[in-house]
Amino acid sequence: MAQKEGTRQVVRERMGILLSLAQSALRKNDIIHAKRYIFLARKLSSRYNCRFTKEERALFCKACGMPRLIGKNTRVRLNKRTRAAEYLCSCEAKAGFKY
Ligand SMILES: [Zn+2]
Repeated sequence: MAQKEGTRQVVRERMGILLSLAQSALRKNDIIHAKRYIFLARKLSSRYNCRFTKEERALFCKACGMPRLIGKNTRVRLNKRTRAAEYLCSCEAKAGFKY
């Protein structure tokens, strides 16, 4: 069923806020809240059929549901030949992104 465009916009905004809250929670070593914010953002995404943008998808780990903080729980490898960035999470899950 088609949803009102206004609902979408509010949900998108809330997803963005939750992601930034998750990042700042992790900076303060607050893992419980960081995970919770990511969980809520992903739940909104599936409930309202709103996809994360490419940039937003790079902000958290799909496998363990933790926000990524480069230098803290994420290592980045750049591959010049394929122009791909490989994000290695502390849970040893890998994710690739084009750049
Ligand atoms: Zn992970």
